[in-house]
Amino acid sequence: MQTMKALRLLDWKSDPQIVEVDRPTPGPGQALVRIGGAGACHSDLHLMHEFEGGVLPWGPPFTLGHENAGWVEELGPDTEASGVSVGSAVAVYGPWGCGQCAMCRAGVETYCEHPELAPVPGGGGGLGADGGMAEFMLVPAVRQLVPLPEGLDPAHAAPLTDAALTPYHAVKRSWAKLPPDAWAVVIGVGGLGHMAVQILKATTSARIIAVDTREEARSMALDMGADAAVVPGDSAAEEIKTMTGGLGADVVLDFVGVDATLALSAAVVRVLGDLTVVGIGGGSYPLSFFSIPYEASVQTTYWGSRPELAEVLLLAARGLITPKVSTFGLDEAPRVYEDLAAGKIDGRAVIVP
Ligand code: NAD
Ligand code: ZN
Ligand code: ZN
Repeated sequence: MQTMKALRLLDWKSDPQIVEVDRPTPGPGQALVRIGGAGACHSDLHLMHEFEGGVLPWGPPFTLGHENAGWVEELGPDTEASGVSVGSAVAVYGPWGCGQCAMCRAGVETYCEHPELAPVPGGGGGLGADGGMAEFMLVPAVRQLVPLPEGLDPAHAAPLTDAALTPYHAVKRSWAKLPPDAWAVVIGVGGLGHMAVQILKATTSARIIAVDTREEARSMALDMGADAAVVPGDSAAEEIKTMTGGLGADVVLDFVGVDATLALSAAVVRVLGDLTVVGIGGGSYPLSFFSIPYEASVQTTYWGSRPELAEVLLLAARGLITPKVSTFGLDEAPRVYEDLAAGKIDGRAVIVP
């Protein structure tokens, strides 16, 4: 058996370790992908430092990395009809469902109705099952491979599978509330937020207000097409209200999800608007008749669908959205997560094993 290096989370409340593991062999319907890029997501920091046994239906040990792209190295038996061939450049659709239920058949494996039949209930590669922070990754069903359009390399495609797919799904569900004179607010311009700004710009004509504690993130948002950047704090809600003619924003996307950002979101969302919580910061906000504007819709969103991933890849291949990527070797991955926790990463850090 050949071995390879992998960055693994071995226990809850621990730092991940680089260890030697067996290189997997694809079984029937499966594929082995040689990883060309694995993005470092802030969710991994929540997994390492905040979660404990019993919260999620899966747990360590597993290899991290749930934003992956690479090349098909090997195909198992019964994969002939899949349309992918050895050597193809592919993005890996990360949420793995049962493949049989109505949600999975529509490509919405995030909301699989029979998670008990999935490879990992409610998880995927890098989330309970072994992910892409290794030389190779086993993908349990070839349907999870989405071919890369011409012009996209795996290191730049990797963050598209989550850092772009997740905000794309969140923005797309609010398209109807983003007519030409609309305002959108993006809170947290990190890996997901810097793609949210670009996705809003590429798919709507809304004016965009970006909010981030870090000056580098605010200036990156302006570079990427945001119309204004606001420092969070006591006067932020007032500033946003003034910019939006006193009415508030049609759509507010919170990519942080702590008490302060939820309160800001509720303070600036408009009557009939959308307040979408994407960040897993663990905060809360009291919901009552008078605590949000009339008919504002509040929702969480989780990741995105496989058809939406194909749409995101096409947007990127046309140059309409471009993740800001910095690449690192697998040995540097533990330090990359420290930097991510310290707010020292602009855009997305991608591990190239
Ligand atoms: P990141 O660390 O790259 O970016 C977070 C950004 O938020 C940084 O720019 C930071 O400066 C900013 N920020 C932090 N606190 C802030 C505050 N109080 N006000 C304003 N800005 C603040 O993280 P990421 O990888 O983009 O992930 C963002 C969040 O989304 C995380 O909680 C992550 O777990 C979550 N996430 C959710 C999904 C989903 O499907 N719902 C998918 C992926 C990630
Ligand atoms: Zn993620
Ligand atoms: Zn299913």
